[in-house]
Formats: sequence, structure tokens, C-alpha cells
Amino acid sequence: MEDLRDKYEVVIGLEVHAQLKTKSKIFAPDGCEFGKEPNSETSPITLGMPGVLPVLNKEAVNMGILTGLALNCEIPERCKFDRKQYFYPDLPKGYQISQYDEPICVNGYLNVKGKKIGITRAHLEEDAGKLVHAGADGLAGSSYSLVDLNRAGTPLLEIVSEPDMRSSEEARNYMEELRNIVRYIGVCDGNLEEGSMRCDANISIMPKGSKEFGTRAEIKNVNSFSALQRAIEYEIDRQIEIVEEGGKVVQETRLWDDNARETKSMRGKEDAHDYRYFPEPDLMPLKISREWVEEIRAKMPELPQAKRERYMSLGLSEYDASVIVEQMGLALFFDEVLKLGASPKIAVNFIMGEIAAYLKENKLEINETKLTPENLVELISLIEKNTISNNIGKQIIVDMMKDGSKASEIVEKRGLSQISDTGAIKEIAQKVCDANPAQVTAYKNGKVQLLGFFVGQVMKETKGRANPKAVNEILKEILG
Ligand code: ADP
Ligand code: MG
Repeated sequence: MEDLRDKYEVVIGLEVHAQLKTKSKIFAPDGCEFGKEPNSETSPITLGMPGVLPVLNKEAVNMGILTGLALNCEIPERCKFDRKQYFYPDLPKGYQISQYDEPICVNGYLNVKGKKIGITRAHLEEDAGKLVHAGADGLAGSSYSLVDLNRAGTPLLEIVSEPDMRSSEEARNYMEELRNIVRYIGVCDGNLEEGSMRCDANISIMPKGSKEFGTRAEIKNVNSFSALQRAIEYEIDRQIEIVEEGGKVVQETRLWDDNARETKSMRGKEDAHDYRYFPEPDLMPLKISREWVEEIRAKMPELPQAKRERYMSLGLSEYDASVIVEQMGLALFFDEVLKLGASPKIAVNFIMGEIAAYLKENKLEINETKLTPENLVELISLIEKNTISNNIGKQIIVDMMKDGSKASEIVEKRGLSQISDTGAIKEIAQKVCDANPAQVTAYKNGKVQLLGFFVGQVMKETKGRANPKAVNEILKEILG
């Protein structure tokens, strides 16, 4: 397959649905919190009762505008809502209110690892409910399905990219950056596994050098970044095989099965006219004044790209900066620590080292531990003042995360403060040398790398408390 791959160019465009974190639904007053008792958030509007009218949730519009601005979009002065008709039991009205030809955001782009990926549009719409096919839910043989309409009417922002991506890796990077952005601006949890962010991948292939795109297949049901990459890789091979055998790729919607590691045809792809779009008569077109847009722009928090660049300007490597930004909790914690004036270098060593390891091992977020930014800053200041060594710091940070104690308290209680008294260090160094005459001779005969051995022994004797710089100097003096 590898050499066949070289004959083709891959074209990918993503449609991403981000569930907006509003308190209530987009056109109804019911709450949209995840995990409520089935059908407990179902007002007559959500149920599509005759005579009810939708009322637009302003917060959903604010979040749409904020996202558009973060994605470098234009926010047209006017947008409107349209009815998209399709019958499905999880959609009681028989149509979905969406935006068709006048969306809230247009013509944006996202910089992804140095490449500009165009964003065609982003539009607001309502989510459908959830069907539970009872047979598949453990009641084998049952012939019915259950519907939970709590999710029906939850606001979504559908973000549609240009077909600008050329590999599964680019698609993944785009998706990851998009997720970072919606999380940092606070409009969406960005949880692919729980479905608060969902992605449809459109994929086609064409002979290398061709200007005309091939027919695309749309892949649904990818629930993680790695599944997205796997699904795209599978789909590329599937399409190449069809074309190589003289066949034609058909435009269709396919479902990714991550266990079977394959896509399966779900249905032929509808065209827009199949949906019989028409303007939603129950909602006025929405005028968005420039003042409104500016008011929202003024609230834009620092975006992930700017954050990475700021961290790098503080001396972090690109890798460290990216890893911290990927984990929003850590980044916000790190920002607090910086605000309190701590050295970024020492702070990042703790965060990327002991702290990250502890969080990973215990599957925790930093705010689920008892470590406060103030306490980390105090620990760092003890190291900077040479009260304790870096190593001691590493030993006590886990306790600080577990029980919230202050570094100075632990140091005092356990007598961990650094020995900088040269007399005391000299005594121990001499003892170590006396106990290891063979190594002393070897050192004196030129095996100077043995210095590390002696330093290690002194550190062991002092339980890591000796000032390393003083130890080095004193040993060199004794060993001559
Ligand atoms: P629909 O809403 O019917 O799925 P759109 O025209 O809005 O159709 O396109 C959906 C997505 O498909 C966009 O992200 C776009 O970039 C992508 N796309 C369009 N044509 C192709 C193609 N030939 N190959 C890959 N992706 C494509
Ligand atoms: Mg689509």
C-alpha cells in the first residue's frame, strides 16, 4: 500500500460539532447539564408541542461570536436561522433549527503547526435527543428503542473547515488545536469520549498533481483523536483500493467502528436540497452590531498559540510549552505560579516532572490535589535560598499534593534543611574518603570521573541535605 500511497494526494475537511456550555438550551429554558435523569429536561418547546415558539438564548450567540473571533472569522452583521427537515424519533419537531446560507461566522482560519487551515463557516444549531436501542442495551431480543430528549435542543456550534488538510496527522493536529481553543475560551468541554465535541471527517483522494478533488466519503463516529487518525488512514487505503481496481468512490456517510478498525457504509449522502431548508419563520434574522462584537472581543482570554509562545519566551522548550498548554488545568496553575513571581525554569521542572507524573499515576487533575500555587512558590523560594536542595524539593512535593502542607513545615518537621556548614560537610567527606581508599588512589591516578561517586556517597550520608556545590568544592580540596 505504501507505494500506492505515493500516487495519490489525500484531501480532508472536518466538520466539528462543539456543544456550547450554556446553562439552558438554545431555544428553550430547560437545563442542558449532562447526566440528568432521562427526559427530565424536556419543556414543551423541546418536545415540539404545537403552538410553542423558540426563544434564542443570547449566551449561545455570545459563545458563537467568541469562537468565531478566536478562529479569525468574520462575524456578519446579520445571520438567520433555517429549518432543516428530517424525520427521526430523537427529533420531535420533525426538523432541526440550524443556519444555512447566513451563518454566524464565516471566512476564518486556524494556524496549525505553521499551516493555515481555512474555516469556511461556523453556524449555530440545536442538537437532537438520544435513542437507546434497548436490544443493544442488554435486553437482547427486545424490539423497541427508548428515547431520551434531554440533549434535544442543546446548543451546538458546527465548525466547518476548508478541504485544506493533506494527511491524517494534519487533521489530528487541527482537531487538537480546535479543542484547545474552545476549552480555553470556555465555550465547550471538548470531551470527545463523552461527545461534547464530535467530528465528521470528509476524505477524498486524487492522483498526485491533479487539481480536481475526488469524491468524498464522510466518516462519522470518531470518538478520540487516535480514532480520527485511524479512521482516516483506513479510509485512504479503502479509496485507493477502489480506484486502483477501476471503481469509483461513492459519496456516502460511513461509520467508523474502532473495535473492528474499519468504516462501514451507513447511508448515501444527502444533498442540501434533500433537507428542504427554508428560513425559520418563528425567529427573526439576528442583527449583530459591531459594538456587540467588540464587547465580546474584549473578553477574549489568551489563546493557546499565544500561551505557547509566551512560555517559550520564558525559556521553555517548544515541547514543554505544548505539553503544558494541552493540559489546561496545568497551564492555568502554571500561570498562577508565574504571577506570584516564581522562577519559570524551576516551576516547569516540577510541573513537567513530579507533578505531572503524580497526576498521571493517580488520574487526577491538578485542582483535585491539595497543592496550591502559593505552596509551590514557597517551595521554589526555599530552593532558591538554598534552604533545601532541589532533590529534597522533589521528595516533598508529593506530600504537598496529598495533604496540602507547606514546604517549610515539612522541612522543619523532618529536619530537611540543607547543610551548608562547611565544617560539617568536611567531616563527612573525609569519612567517605577514608572508607574508600581504592577509589581515592584511582582518582589521584587520573580517574577524575570518580568525583561523582564521592559526591554521591556524601549525599547518601547526609540524606541529600548537603549543599551540592559545597560538597564538590570540599571533595576536590581533600582529593587534591
Ligand atoms: P455537507 O454539509 O453536505 O457535509 P459541505 O459542502 O459543507 O457539505 O462540506 C463538508 C466538508 O467536506 C467541509 O469540511 C469540506 O471542507 C469538505 N469537503 C468538501 N469537498 C471535499 C473533498 N472533495 N474531499 C474532502 N473533503 C471535502
Ligand atoms: Mg457534512
